[in-house]
Amino acid sequence: MRQTLVVGNWKMHGSRASVAALLGEVVGSLPAGAAETAVCPSYVHLAQALELCEGSAVAVGAQDCSHMQSGAYTGEVSAQMLVDMGCRWVILGHSERRQYHSESDNLVAAKLGAAIEAGLRPIVCVGETREQRESGEEEIVVARQLRGALDGQISLAGLVVAYEPVWAIGTGLTASPEQAQAMHAFIRKCLVDVNGIDADATRVLYGGSVKADNAAELFAQQDIDGALVGGAALKAGDFLAIVGAGHG
Ligand code: PEP
Repeated sequence: MRQTLVVGNWKMHGSRASVAALLGEVVGSLPAGAAETAVCPSYVHLAQALELCEGSAVAVGAQDCSHMQSGAYTGEVSAQMLVDMGCRWVILGHSERRQYHSESDNLVAAKLGAAIEAGLRPIVCVGETREQRESGEEEIVVARQLRGALDGQISLAGLVVAYEPVWAIGTGLTASPEQAQAMHAFIRKCLVDVNGIDADATRVLYGGSVKADNAAELFAQQDIDGALVGGAALKAGDFLAIVGAGHG
């Protein structure tokens, strides 16, 4: 049985005060026997989050990393630096990185390679736009993104995939549990063809307007193994309810 994983993607939100308040509540009230839990604050709040989560069941990750290991790359943060700080997870290929920073499948693959080499646990995001879904291309797009990121990697043990339909991110629109399940089953089928992956053991998270009141129904689907949560991860009560909807 795959343990549910709930990951909060805080995006570019937060201050020292709000991070302290949010994590104080999350760490202090994490339900027993619930989902495995991680939070991904901005780079500048990582050290504070790591300190606040120390000794708790809440792991900390980053929202991105460089594809390079070190060198003259102004503004970049390497996977090795994140490991050195104590980060366990990294989100890669989020649709906002693809949209606003022109990240290609090749770049996502290079970042994934760097994360794997450094020992970070990667969460690779895939998902189609509304136009792509309306023209019936969603499976083609997702299969291409998966192949583009995963083919040729040295090791994919522990990989997590997040299916995030772009039309459901931050919009309040959620894929129905049936729509999400269908795509998750398709993703698992694609993973069977990737060398070095145990498709049955690989967790596939859903992301896109997951809330306290729809998490349980999503998690009840056979191939939905947790959630990548944006907006609702910024409210302790909502995030804890989503975590509580999963199983340990
Ligand atoms: C996300 O950005 O990963 C996300 C799923 O956002 P939201 O939950 O706000 O839709």
